Amino acid sequence: MTKREVDIAIIGAGTAGLAAYNAARKHTDNVVIIEGGQYGTTCARVGCMPSKLLIAAAESAHDARKAGLFGIHVGDVMINGERVLARVRKERDKFVGSVLTSIDAIPSQHKVVGYARFLAPGMLAVGKEMEIEADRIVIATGSSPNIPEMFQGLGERLLVNDSLFELPSLPESVAVFGSGVVGLELGQALSHLGVRVRMFGRSGSLGGIADEEIRNYAEHCFNEEFYLDTRSEVIDVSLVKGGVSISFIHRDKGALTELFDYTLVATGRSPNLEGLALHNSGLTLDENGMPLTEPSTLQCDNSAVFLVGDANQQAPVLHEAAYEGRIAGDNAGRYPNVMPGERMTPFSVVFSSPQIASVGVPVGGMSVAERDSYAVGRSLFEDQGRSKVIGKNRGILKVYAECNSGIFVGAEMFGPAAEHIGHLLAWAAQQRMTVSAMLAMPFYHPVIEEGVRTALRNLHEKLIKTDLEVNPCMECGPGS
Ligand SMILES: Cc1cc2nc3c(=O)[nH]c(=O)nc-3n(C[C@H](O)[C@H](O)[C@H](O)COP(=O)(O)OP(=O)(O)OC[C@H]3O[C@@H](n4cnc5c(N)ncnc54)[C@H](O)[C@@H]3O)c2cc1C
Repeated sequence: MTKREVDIAIIGAGTAGLAAYNAARKHTDNVVIIEGGQYGTTCARVGCMPSKLLIAAAESAHDARKAGLFGIHVGDVMINGERVLARVRKERDKFVGSVLTSIDAIPSQHKVVGYARFLAPGMLAVGKEMEIEADRIVIATGSSPNIPEMFQGLGERLLVNDSLFELPSLPESVAVFGSGVVGLELGQALSHLGVRVRMFGRSGSLGGIADEEIRNYAEHCFNEEFYLDTRSEVIDVSLVKGGVSISFIHRDKGALTELFDYTLVATGRSPNLEGLALHNSGLTLDENGMPLTEPSTLQCDNSAVFLVGDANQQAPVLHEAAYEGRIAGDNAGRYPNVMPGERMTPFSVVFSSPQIASVGVPVGGMSVAERDSYAVGRSLFEDQGRSKVIGKNRGILKVYAECNSGIFVGAEMFGPAAEHIGHLLAWAAQQRMTVSAMLAMPFYHPVIEEGVRTALRNLHEKLIKTDLEVNPCMECGPGS
């Protein structure tokens, strides 16, 4: 048994753990980072990067099919599934390689390999061979896919995001379970790549969209491409010869049983806390077994333990994992003098087509009473000039502001270039700009951002409480 005493132990060498390590090292050299699984991070190995690579291939096929709109005929689009997935893996491996290079640069005495668990407050075991006494601990263990019981007997016919990218070729058919971000991105990409897809949601949610009108609009658009039921009734899922048999109530056709090559289960992710034996940590746990964590410091329960990234479930996206890791690593270094980190405006993007962006205060998901103190502006992209030019004129944008101050607080969008529009709006919300100040910014012509101006003008009219319709701005150019 090896015993070590360290100032700071970081559990998990993903995005959050590595950011915590870099911040902690500025305070002490007596630090370890413990990794039980594969080095390389979820984002690079099985998350953001391979999914976006698959989506890039899918968009290319989709655009080729739509080229006829412009009078360009490319003939039948042939998709070579083996080559699509080979490129995904090849480029993915380069991203993983760059993470591995930075792991290699970490001194070997700082790296511990194995799964960590608490033996007592401040005391960790790593596997059976090592005990680490740590003054301060950062938990950065990430999350893993939930696999509901009904899918557990499906063996190799069960896919999750981790295994999808390892298929030798694209399957003929996939039943996707879960219409959240991961299910929607991967399911639509498969559909664009010629895979027969049916997507089954359960709670009515769709890509995290809070606003009902936008959600319904998006559900309608996706259904033009593949069958999507966000409140599906699935009766049976069974492993059979040649695939997976799914019995469900089809929205229009009633009871159906269909055979699929695979099921892709994207029914949410759970924090990797179970193996940590948190009951030995001395931390107060809530009814779900989660340590109570202060969002500004990432400190658990006023203790010397910090919880960051997907493991705390506060904002499971990459930039937040990295930022939280930095705050917690710094606070672990300066403990007990912890400092609050200024949190960023909430911001997420779904790389569907059209894309979805959510920014700031989720006014669209509030009850009527809660919404009372906010004004809502809206614009549609169907007649928006630039969107029509490029043939991507589907979508809605809603923008939100505080009634009493006119300060812009958030937005939700399903539409063209939402990844870019979302950034503009997130930066404006974080700067606490007023709607008038945003309207005083330059808008070029013809650009998709002119659709943002239309929504902001609509919002401005609501704020000044006039009943005037927003007339198309004559000096703005056609279709703005
Ligand atoms: C398919 C998919 C697509 C995504 N796309 C995007 C996107 O486009 N944009 C975006 O912002 N976010 C995206 N995300 C989310 C993003 O990947 C995560 O928010 C981010 O990777 C979380 O980083 P983390 O450091 O918290 O966890 P991870 O990177 O998962 O790191 C946790 C590490 O802890 C290790 N570990 C776990 N338990 C222990 C233990 N007991 N002892 C030692 N080590 C342990 C694990 O092996 C792992 O290496 C996506 C996620 C998925 C699944």
